[in-house]
Amino acid sequence: MKKLLLASMTALSLVACGNKEKPVETSSSDLQTPTIEEFDYLVDRFADLQILRYRVPDIDQLSLQQQELLYYLSEASLVGRDILYDQNGCHNLIIRTVLEAIYTSNTDKENDNFKAMETYLKRVWVSNGIHHHYSGDKFTPEFSQEWFVQQVNALDASILPEGRTIEDVLEEIVPVIFDPTVDAKHMNQTAGEDLILTSASNYYGEGVTQAEAEAYYNNLKDLTDEEPVSYGLNAKLIKEDGVVKEQVYKVGGLYTEALEKVVYWLEKAAKVAENDQQRAVINKLIEFNKTGVLKTFDEYAILWVNDTASHIDFVNGFTETYGDPLGMTASWESMVNFKNTEATKRTKIISDNAQYFEDASPVDSRFKKEKVKGVTAKVITAAIIGGDCYPTTPIGINLPNSNWIRAAHGSKSVTIENFTEAYDRAQQGNGFAEEFVWSDVERDLMSQYGFMTDNLHTDLHECLGHGSGKLLPGVDPDAMRSYSSVIEETRADLFGLYHMGDPKVVELGLLPNADAYKAQYYSYFMNGLMTQLKRIHLGDNVEEAHMRNRQLITRWVLEKSKDDKAVELKKRDGKTYVVINDYNLVRTHLGELLAEIQRIKSTGDYEAGKNIVENYAVKVDPTLHKEVLERFNKLNIAPYFGFVNPVYTATFNDKGEFAGLKIDYTEGYAEQHLRYSRDYSLLTKKEK
Ligand code: ZN
Repeated sequence: MKKLLLASMTALSLVACGNKEKPVETSSSDLQTPTIEEFDYLVDRFADLQILRYRVPDIDQLSLQQQELLYYLSEASLVGRDILYDQNGCHNLIIRTVLEAIYTSNTDKENDNFKAMETYLKRVWVSNGIHHHYSGDKFTPEFSQEWFVQQVNALDASILPEGRTIEDVLEEIVPVIFDPTVDAKHMNQTAGEDLILTSASNYYGEGVTQAEAEAYYNNLKDLTDEEPVSYGLNAKLIKEDGVVKEQVYKVGGLYTEALEKVVYWLEKAAKVAENDQQRAVINKLIEFNKTGVLKTFDEYAILWVNDTASHIDFVNGFTETYGDPLGMTASWESMVNFKNTEATKRTKIISDNAQYFEDASPVDSRFKKEKVKGVTAKVITAAIIGGDCYPTTPIGINLPNSNWIRAAHGSKSVTIENFTEAYDRAQQGNGFAEEFVWSDVERDLMSQYGFMTDNLHTDLHECLGHGSGKLLPGVDPDAMRSYSSVIEETRADLFGLYHMGDPKVVELGLLPNADAYKAQYYSYFMNGLMTQLKRIHLGDNVEEAHMRNRQLITRWVLEKSKDDKAVELKKRDGKTYVVINDYNLVRTHLGELLAEIQRIKSTGDYEAGKNIVENYAVKVDPTLHKEVLERFNKLNIAPYFGFVNPVYTATFNDKGEFAGLKIDYTEGYAEQHLRYSRDYSLLTKKEK
């Protein structure tokens, strides 16, 4: 479960160097990390995006064997790239192929149509498809259909997948790109409509209805099973001769071309694993990719959650279900990382005190865990991201997602500090705080404690929030249906916010004083009530789970504060500001909401979950929205960030043995995607 970064962060990263073993046989110059001051974080700016690069500090501290492992895992991350494009929509791969061909072959790069197409293509790369990565709305092309058709007609048909002609490709993609009514939404969440038939995402085949899919999965579920597998996690549901059945993602099944390569690199990685536990993790994941058996996936997840000793760690596979309107099937994602030893001391303190926070939580005791198990938390340095982690990325991850595994074996939770560092650096001096923050008091709080409390909130959300609480016996873990992600993220955010204001946090040395948490409260409310609206178009509802959760929390508390004025929206010179008059009272309200959200989750109260989301999280005040957009427009700040990966090159000696890793940070944005398409296009040859 992920949490995306939104709050503005203004202070500097305080990551210190770890005291890891010195490497033996490497030339550190190939892996040297530039300092924060000399590093160029900004790569590209277009549409609503700022593309950044991230540093990989301490990579020179890896042993030669760890470098080799990291290299193989990074290749396993990149070979899955096409899977997500196809999951996001069945026309995405062919559209990407055609756009890239026009982009690289066109000689008139100053033409307005070309420039508009270039922006469109850059947005497709960000979203791994033609729908906005956050809002889910289809992009509107700003190049003409006539120009586009002309360009496609001029292409050499050999760039197309086997069996395709220019004519039939045009017939397929022109309406998809240009007709606003075709595939308008990546994922429709409008209650009352058929969520599958009205969504463009490709988790269900032609003609499968929501009722059929729900019936199919309900039929598989056995609510008395105390160790249920995650049904549908790795399968597309299709209809053949009127019968609904699964097409499993596996070697020999759907996406085999890409998954075979994943297995190829994982097999190499297994040979250079750091220890037996990690080797067992990798081998189990290979087995799962080969068989697609969900029980094997759970065995893998248990092995993975128990591997806390390895320095390098990774995620590679079908993981998060945000993209499926029913929340069953997972998108493919990957991230390779290693431990940030120094910063991990902070999360160690948190997990060592997990039971304290669980006990001190304001929720009904029936919904609390008597014994919080195995909350392991660490701060990591990401080394490469792929699939649904790229190029827009989480800043924290908490896995596995299976409820019973979390209850029985705990979960692993990470905060990715080299990403938060990049966000923080990219946002300095852009005028945001001057425009939106009420006064110097809040600005000072945020500049002193902003970065620190953002990281701490992420830690608490991931290490404790998702792991807290329990379901009452017999409650269906999927009871919240399409609201499950929002309710779960709301719960985790509230847990973090509430406990952040506990004096215990200061006592434990997690924050320097009793005022610091206020920086997070202020920026969270400003974001949830106002500034996150920069990410949606005027007239649209809030759709994305994390945005919904933030609006739910802040709108609910705002309404609760109607009489006591703990928090309010105030106008000054025609501009709206968030003003927090009583932080302690805000915390009390956050606790009240946490108790209610936990009750909803623990009892599987679908109606209450639906009502609270629909009443607080979805609709936007159009007047305030318009004002926020206008104020942002003047600042020209990109609402979204994406990343480019560093480029890793492995060297091998004349015996074919691994001899070292090189890292290069200079690759551009388009350059990177074109290279990935050249080297890792594993599914584009099998278009229909
Ligand atoms: Zn989360």
